[in-house]
Amino acid sequence: MPPVVPFAVVLGTVQDGGFPHVGCACPACERATREPSLRRSVASLGLVTRKGIAVIDATPDFASQTRRLAELAGRSVADPPRALLLTHLHAGHVLGLALMGREAWANTGTPVWATEKCLAFLQRNEPFAALFRDGHLSGRALPLGWDASLDDLVIQPIPVHHRSENGDTVGYRVEGPERSIFYAPDLDSVTPDVIGQIRAADIAILDGTFFRRGELSRTDASAVPHPAIADTMSAVSRIDTKVLFTHLNHTNPGLDPDSRESRAIRAVGMRVAREGEVIELG
Ligand SMILES: [Zn+2]
Ligand SMILES: [Zn+2]
Ligand SMILES: [Zn+2]
Repeated sequence: MPPVVPFAVVLGTVQDGGFPHVGCACPACERATREPSLRRSVASLGLVTRKGIAVIDATPDFASQTRRLAELAGRSVADPPRALLLTHLHAGHVLGLALMGREAWANTGTPVWATEKCLAFLQRNEPFAALFRDGHLSGRALPLGWDASLDDLVIQPIPVHHRSENGDTVGYRVEGPERSIFYAPDLDSVTPDVIGQIRAADIAILDGTFFRRGELSRTDASAVPHPAIADTMSAVSRIDTKVLFTHLNHTNPGLDPDSRESRAIRAVGMRVAREGEVIELG
């Protein structure tokens, strides 16, 4: 049976650099190079409303992700998205926007929903600025913490802590007639605000970049602060909300569903999000 509209679809579950990770020769990436079934797309959440599709974050895998979403929605892949919602400006979350221009999709006026600061940066800097100037994209500035309606969904951008050199970072609360999701793929820490958002949603899809602190052996590990899955598991263990992890780094043993770490996540009723999984909201 086709899913009840509106619904969300997990379109990607790994960190900005992909899996296999660009330029990486670690054993996990070498294995995923040899075995296509192990490959994953960059973190993104698709939304299907009664009027069409929308995507949270425009990743480097945007082309295949919008194709998959249109198929699940039972719509033509040629129908332009109702909205492209951005969490922040890091590469894995915006590079797909570049495919909206004349050389690629060449739509007119596809709405980009983002904070005022993020939109201003995109509209001032190439190659994104030209997409707005030439009318392929139109900007919709979202006031932080205010509701915006997207057909039969209510969307609220929630400010979260994450290093933001040129803009700011939000998670999204997506509320359907029956169920709601809190989606926050990039976080520097699980703050009391974030805990409140997790508690208020039926499903939370959270930053699971690293399984444990110290997973990155590089000396710059402190430059990429993310809450470790192991810590988030204990921080949210008493909350009723269904918790799924996304945005996994190639070093994360949670990428292998049979690893000891994946089993430990499932043992507390949480798990890593699965690409292609549908979450009904209606
Ligand atoms: Zn990211
Ligand atoms: Zn690797
Ligand atoms: Zn980021």
